[in-house]
Amino acid sequence: MLSTLPQTTVTRFAPSPTGLLHLGHAFAALFAFQAARDAGGRFLLRIEDIDQGRCRPEFEAAIYEDLAWLGLEWEEPVRRQSECMADYEAALDRLNRLGVLYPCFCTRKDIQTEIDAAGGAPHGPDGPIYPGTCKALSNEKRQTRAERGDRFALRLDMEQALKEVGALTWNDLDRGETTADARIFGDVVLARKDTPTSYHLSVTIDDHLQDVTLVTRGEDLFPATHVHRVLQALLGLDTPAYRHHGLLSAPDGRRLAKRDKAQTLRSLREAGLSAAEVRKMAGY
Ligand code: GLU
Repeated sequence: MLSTLPQTTVTRFAPSPTGLLHLGHAFAALFAFQAARDAGGRFLLRIEDIDQGRCRPEFEAAIYEDLAWLGLEWEEPVRRQSECMADYEAALDRLNRLGVLYPCFCTRKDIQTEIDAAGGAPHGPDGPIYPGTCKALSNEKRQTRAERGDRFALRLDMEQALKEVGALTWNDLDRGETTADARIFGDVVLARKDTPTSYHLSVTIDDHLQDVTLVTRGEDLFPATHVHRVLQALLGLDTPAYRHHGLLSAPDGRRLAKRDKAQTLRSLREAGLSAAEVRKMAGY
């Protein structure tokens, strides 16, 4: 009989270099790092830089510097999403062959006009649910518009996708077996007009390709896991276990954000705090 080898735990911290890391990032990074450590596993760092308009090399450099200062160690080479476009393109090809993608030519304004005309739209976790305008376009119309150079995003036909995959669950280490309900998102964008991928697609592909076994991230991203689970099923990818942790708040009780300059690791360090003190502020 075949015996299965115990799986090594692989976790990751996946920041976007769009600003300086703050205490909330330190908490998320330490959470993932500690989870790998506790399990005798591996910890990865991934740079989520698909949004080239907002990402800056100096913020990426600061990520390495600040995390090293905090005492974290990660495996090299670090995966940078901007260097992995071919992986996302291959996944989109596959989804296209499954017939679960369609081009969407709508601008934000088009979508708003359509929603207003319909007297509103239900809200999903990412905002109002796309009303499906471009889903109704004929193939001829799609071709004509693409040929005349109209830019388009690629959306997941959620109804079709859910028909393909059926009922799905994932193992959430805090919540137990969790039922995926991606319908709440509607037809999400998987490839944007300005960059031929999206957060949902890249993160799902990367976690699979990097053999991540435990995804740890903030509970603000809990809804996204519903979509990721569907993509995994469509693409035949591994499903990691998940933990969605709480978020640190600013001293006034608001959620920490990149604009909270005083709480960046950089300013805490410059104010003379030691790495041990900052780890303690982050709960580690
Ligand atoms: N890049 C995402 C962020 O900075 C995190 C991605 C994830 O952990 O799934 O919020």
